Amino acid sequence: MDAPHSIRIIGDPVLRERAAEVTDIDGRLARLCEDMFATMYAAPGVGLAAPQVGVGKRFFVYDLGEGGGPEVLINPVIEESEGEWEYYEGCLSIPGLHFDIVRPRVVHVTGVDLDGNEVSLEAEDFLARVIQHELDHLDGVLMVERLDEDQRRAARRAVRKLQLESSEPQPSLGARFGLR
Ligand code: ZN
Repeated sequence: MDAPHSIRIIGDPVLRERAAEVTDIDGRLARLCEDMFATMYAAPGVGLAAPQVGVGKRFFVYDLGEGGGPEVLINPVIEESEGEWEYYEGCLSIPGLHFDIVRPRVVHVTGVDLDGNEVSLEAEDFLARVIQHELDHLDGVLMVERLDEDQRRAARRAVRKLQLESSEPQPSLGARFGLR
């Protein structure tokens, strides 16, 4: 499947900005979500936030498969979270790098769906992880900011390796991670 959008990669300023509330839920937004699903499936990935395709709006799409089906969450807010869970996390905007990251295991999230209906969702484990990761994108936060000191050192090494393997000159990749 062809991806309608190219996914923005770490270093793109749009990934560091706080996205704006969605005010109009209309056909344009629905079409954009369709394109985002196609882009996400082609990657492949299980979640994609609007800033990752250059759109500074507060919504994301996700599909965990296994009968979960495609879902859109607009203007999401985490109302409550509890527990701790470590998961080996990746990000379509940080290709090739994964890190064990601890986040709450359960979240209660509210928002709106594409029909304008209010959503209230109790999510745990992997779904809770995807929701927290995508919501971070809406706040301009990338998973590299969730790393502890040891992981940051590992990330620096991984970035250097990426630079060596890359055919394109990427002198600022280390700086992109906020790693100095
Ligand atoms: Zn991501």
